[in-house]
Amino acid sequence: METHVLKIGGSVLRGSHHFQSIIDLTKSYNSLLVIVVSAFYGQTNLMLDLISSKQTPEQVQTKLKGVSNELWQIMNSYHPDFALKYWHKIADRFSILESFKDRLSEKATLSQGEYNFILSFGERLSSLLLSYLFKFNNLECEERLPENIGLIGKKQSGNFVVDYKSTRKNLQATTEFKKITIIPGYYGLDHQKEIVTFGRGGTDYSAAAIAYCIKAKTLDIWKDVSGFMTTDPRLVEEATNVEQLSYQEAAELAYFGAEILHQRTVEPAQLGKIPIRIYDIHQPYQSQYKTIISESKPDSYQVIKSISCSDDFSILQLQGAGIGIEVGLLGKICHLLAKGGINVKSVITAQTSINILLSNEDIDRARTICRRIKGNTIAAIRSIQQISLLAAIGEGITTQPGIASRIFGALAKKQINVSAISFGASRVAIYFIVDRKDKAQALESIHHELFHIRSSNGSPSKSFLERHDFEFHA
Ligand code: ASP
Ligand code: MG
Repeated sequence: METHVLKIGGSVLRGSHHFQSIIDLTKSYNSLLVIVVSAFYGQTNLMLDLISSKQTPEQVQTKLKGVSNELWQIMNSYHPDFALKYWHKIADRFSILESFKDRLSEKATLSQGEYNFILSFGERLSSLLLSYLFKFNNLECEERLPENIGLIGKKQSGNFVVDYKSTRKNLQATTEFKKITIIPGYYGLDHQKEIVTFGRGGTDYSAAAIAYCIKAKTLDIWKDVSGFMTTDPRLVEEATNVEQLSYQEAAELAYFGAEILHQRTVEPAQLGKIPIRIYDIHQPYQSQYKTIISESKPDSYQVIKSISCSDDFSILQLQGAGIGIEVGLLGKICHLLAKGGINVKSVITAQTSINILLSNEDIDRARTICRRIKGNTIAAIRSIQQISLLAAIGEGITTQPGIASRIFGALAKKQINVSAISFGASRVAIYFIVDRKDKAQALESIHHELFHIRSSNGSPSKSFLERHDFEFHA
């Protein structure tokens, strides 16, 4: 029997609000289901607060009580009998978290593994609670924890990623799936059997990795929003849904700021050629996905699928007359930054300057690190902040003439200055930097230029085709 992997995120797990929809949607599949779940909304932040701020035993006690009260409320508001029947199961597991109470007020004694264990505890609670929700509704279901099925993580450039080879072997050996299997997302075990996490929002990635390891038919991500949009609907009212994306388009959109997917989710799905379908929990029926991500062909009529935007970029600019020709300089800089644990998001170089794009939180430290090599070649180091990075994404963007001119023409019409551009580094992305204050207007004008000619059903209108007479050259 085929297996679908479903991911249910924290935004869907707000109270008991969507419980009925979760039950309806699981019933609508006629296959084995592996459901990978996030913590209830806000609970990971509570865990983070428990382990990262200094607090008295009383404060720890109050916070723990808050978490358990919330879980009780969720169960009771769904159905008082549900709480009566199964609360003791949740309380049992919760007592594991409570056993850390004393150590939480003397933080020094927590090992990294214990820290991650607590951080990922929200997922262990939601998976248990949902497994009983299914049982309460007479659905056959079993909870499996990553530590028991051997979901293995390994370190790669400072972050933890899933070790597919080991995980696949373990899952095949230990896991015989029932009709519904629930697995908490966000964490796994490293080879030393310590708990590791996959970064905030990491349940998407856990679910994709599991889908790959068990060769699932699809990865279905259930959200409380529409799927991918043509741009951020909070900034541009005209934004509409994007029905279909290639793996690379989705990966670049996630990288450049679309918050809908964890950045690495696409990788395992693409490896296994598993389609990712994004559904809206408000319509819990399988046929109506909002976005599908698969190995798709470029769309010759609507090359740009979406424009993403992120404020989490700053530029470290190293200036000097001969910078562009000094052999090994960029390598030296990147090496120093890597040693300091700083991720270089992108680089744009010229003869007289190197522009390194970093996360805002890293810019001051990066500047201090680079001062060490200031000298003959590097005459000045500047940090450029208060910027936004906009990325227009679409298969065919580098092969179809006229796209860049439409984008920058639209910006010029509004007198918006573009301070840096990168085109061609990715087959599907063009990105550029504008002042933060111009962000909304920039998005609006580009979006209008690229999308307003679409008809209401999302396909290009005739006049658009006639006007441009485009032909796609693959
Ligand atoms: N609960 C984790 C977080 O809030 C992981 C997830 O939701 O995907 O980041
Ligand atoms: Mg989340």
